[in-house]
Amino acid sequence: MTWAATVLTLYPDMFPGPLGHSLAGRALQEGTWSLETVQIRDFATDRHRSVDDTPAGGGAGMVMRADVLARAVDHALERAPAAPLLVMSPRGAPLTQALVRDLAAGPGVSILCGRFEGMDERLFEARPIVPVSIGDYILSGGETAAIVLLDACVRLLPGVMGQPSSGEEESFETGLLEYPHYTRPYEWEGRRIPEVLRSGDHAKIAAWRKARAIEDTRLRRPDLIARHGDARRPPPSGARREDEGEDR
Ligand code: SAH
Repeated sequence: MTWAATVLTLYPDMFPGPLGHSLAGRALQEGTWSLETVQIRDFATDRHRSVDDTPAGGGAGMVMRADVLARAVDHALERAPAAPLLVMSPRGAPLTQALVRDLAAGPGVSILCGRFEGMDERLFEARPIVPVSIGDYILSGGETAAIVLLDACVRLLPGVMGQPSSGEEESFETGLLEYPHYTRPYEWEGRRIPEVLRSGDHAKIAAWRKARAIEDTRLRRPDLIARHGDARRPPPSGARREDEGEDR
């Protein structure tokens, strides 16, 4: 079944953009997923086809109108009633690999992209829209954020990645950053590939990779270690150590 993405935007020409290339592009051509854009401006009703207006209470910039957006959203809900409807927003919950996995396992997704200062808040009270952020910084519009989200989902669709197993050990899938990678040449600018990786001893290699994953996560993302540790705390009665019998 085709995983169906619908993007509501003022800039439909931005799509598929990067998603038309490489793995996602091939999967799009092959029909593993589909992409439809909806021009929000088509749902404006006044002479100037305006989609925004000045902010209530004053201040800089313009705000997208609830009435225009609601018509576009209703159109998407009608076309894809089973797909979750998201809005890209710095005020949303952070995008995680867990959410990406959930979305990829479903029928598809509809995504509303903002521009200007944002959208009239009443829209989110009146329609079932889930706000999602791709990080703590401000983009000029939701389109690039939607491309990020779609890229993360599409690569998980069955048949899109060359080796299905290559997703399982990646950063965040285990709650840790992934271990570092190396390839030929063996020596480059005086630096050698770690010997253990040339040993052919798969248990030793796995242990080294796990240790590096933990070490690098501790150094770079202590916030992940805190969460990881919580999720793995043994039950109070158990005598197990935290690093026992997990992950592999
Ligand atoms: N004034 C708003 C930012 C508006 S940026 C604020 O301070 O919260 C314009 C649009 O870009 C937003 O409506 C949203 O769709 C998108 N956008 C900006 N940053 C984003 C982020 N970190 N994650 C997801 N979408 C983002």
